[in-house]
This record gives sequence, C-alpha cells and structure tokens, in this order.
Amino acid sequence: MTQTAPQFNAFTPPRRILMGPGPSDVPERVLAAMARPTIGHLDPAFQGMMEELKTLLRYAFQTGNRLTFPVSGPGSVGMEMCFVNLVEPGDKVIVCSNGVFGGRMLENVKRCGGVPVVVEDPWGRAVDPDKVEAAFKAHPDAGVLAFVHAETSTGAQSDAAALAAIARRYGALTIMDCVTSLGGTPVLIDAWGIDAAYSGSQKCLSCTPGLSPVTFSERAIERVQARKAPVQSWFMDLNLVLGYWGGEGARTYHHTAPINPLYGLHEALRILAEEGIENAWARHRRLHEALKAGLERLGLAFVVPEAERLPQLNAIFVPEGVNDAAVRARLLNEFNLEIGAGLGAYAGRVWRIGLMGHACTAKNVRYCLEALGQVLGRG
Ligand SMILES: *Cc1c(COP(=O)(O)O)cnc(C)c1O
Repeated sequence: MTQTAPQFNAFTPPRRILMGPGPSDVPERVLAAMARPTIGHLDPAFQGMMEELKTLLRYAFQTGNRLTFPVSGPGSVGMEMCFVNLVEPGDKVIVCSNGVFGGRMLENVKRCGGVPVVVEDPWGRAVDPDKVEAAFKAHPDAGVLAFVHAETSTGAQSDAAALAAIARRYGALTIMDCVTSLGGTPVLIDAWGIDAAYSGSQKCLSCTPGLSPVTFSERAIERVQARKAPVQSWFMDLNLVLGYWGGEGARTYHHTAPINPLYGLHEALRILAEEGIENAWARHRRLHEALKAGLERLGLAFVVPEAERLPQLNAIFVPEGVNDAAVRARLLNEFNLEIGAGLGAYAGRVWRIGLMGHACTAKNVRYCLEALGQVLGRG
C-alpha cells in the first residue's frame, strides 16, 4: 500500500513589502540570478564565481582577511562557527548581553564548554565599554570577547571600535555579530581589529536567507590551528572548511555548496559595490531620519536613546491600549506590509520597523507611515 499522491497548486507567494527585522525585500536582479542553471560546485566556472564572491565580501566587511567566505547556513550557523572554533572546553569568554542575540552567544559559549563571564546591559541600551574593561580587569585570563554590534531585538548599536580595542589591550580575540549591521552601518573589520565576525544574507544585504558571510583574522586562524581539542562539529571545523573555501585551485569536496543561493549573494554584493558602501550607509542614515520624524509625528516613542540607535532597525513602543498583533495583522492583510513584533522581554510591547538594504527607500518610508497612521487612526 502506498500513500495517495498529494496534488497542490504551485506556491505563489503574495507580494509583500518587508520592513521587519529580516528578511528584507530581495531585488529582482538577485531573484533572477538565483534562477540561472545549476552547475557543479567543483566546476571551474563556479569556482571563478566563488573567488569574486570572496572579494566582494572582503569589500562589504572592509577587510583583507583571506579567510572570508559565506557559510552554508543562516546567521545562526555563522555564529556557531565562530564559537565552536575559537572556544575550547575550559576557555574563559567575556560575553556581552543586552538583548536576545547576546543571550544566544552566551548559550554558544556554554555549549562549547567555555566558562562565560557575562557583562549585562539593559535591553535597549548599547554595551557599556566600562563594564567590559572591568570584566577584563577581574578576569585577565579571558581569551575571547564576544558582543553583538547591532542588537536586532532592541535596535541598539554598540561601539565596536571601543570594545575591540579593550579586548586587544588584554590580548583577547574578538567575536562580533554583525548580522544586522553589515551593509547598513559601518562595519570596519580591519580598522577595528575584529578577529571573527559573522553576518547574514537576508538583512541589509537583501539576498534570500540561508547564507552567513564570515571573516577570520590570521590571529583567529592561529588560535584554531593551536587548539588542543578537535572542533566538536565536523561540518563547522574551520580546518576542514579551509580546504574548500580557502584553497585556491586545489579545492576538495567538503559539502555541496548551495549553488543558486550563492549566485544570488554574488548579485546582491555586486549591487552593494555599484552603489558604494559609504553611499549605502548614508542612505540608511538619511531614511532613518525621515522615518523617525514621521513616527514622532504619529506620537510613537523610540525604545533606544538617540545616540545608540540603529538606523536600519527602529524599535518603537506599542501605544497604551493598542493591540500589537491586530495592528500587525491589518498592516499585512490590508497593506501587504510586514513589520516586526517584539522579541523576548519586548513581546507584545514593541514594534520593530526595519529599513534594511533594498527595502530602505523613501517610497517605503512614506508608505509605512501612511499605513501606520491609518491603522492607528492617527493619520
Ligand atoms: C537575524 C540575526 C541573527 C540570526 O540570523 P539567522 O539567519 O536568523 O539565523 C543573529 N544575530 C542577529 C543580531 C540577527 O539580527
């Protein structure tokens, strides 16, 4: 007995405007690139594309790191790759926690058998460099500092240059989450002296989800090569991945790369390079100012103090007496507009309006303000 074959229509997604915490709107050029013929992942033509992709990623990260490539997996896999390689059982790690993603970093440290030293800051605030300095003073043997540059759960941006400088002074490596910042606000891996960073394809890079750009400094590679214990994850072991992504010419099979999504990322990064990264940063800043002015006219208050705000993720409080879910449902159903709900401690209390990559346009800012005004009866 076999099961009856299910018969469905082809899936046709509705057209939405994506102004949440990611994914952001994907340009037609990227979607078209992904629809091109699949070829073998060891095909010389594909390898040529991969070399360009690494160069484009070095530009996005502003780094000369040779070990810069897209991990086959979402941002969370890029995060794990940094931790499983750089944290060995018994290693002390200073972890900054000021939102959901800092909490996930802490979870990673524990699962690697590391000894976490947690630096807590309130939700909605940047990481306090003085607290990080104090943590290193109390724990000079800490070998790694981990922090989130752009905390998407709250919309707060931390001073990555200051935090990385402290880690350097104490001889520690730095792991930075720049999933939401890459392509939206300055990420300067080499100038700041960051040793390991991971991002995501679906936020300010406006590619489809499922790829995680990462970059590792020579100091980070030395640390991995000097490990006493083997990396507990076979898939994420950098020593093995190096042969695949790092080896120019002599590539060997490690896993089958997600061919078509990589075409998409190549195109998304070409779009970023055509605009120029400084121009992309300026666009996010300018349109954030326009959105902010409009939200304030509607009487909506920001969660994060002005000096610590991320332009590409605007967290605002749900007004007293307004039903969070009902508003978001109306925006989606009547306006085809997606905005984000609050996460964790902010569930039901906060909306998160993304202005990421291709979705960060003057037209979208006007449309979002108009839609919110109508739904809230404040237009
Ligand atoms: C989105 C996000 C992640 C996780 O990325 P996924 O692609 O969803 O796994 C990690 N950190 C931050 C700051 C993010 O915004």
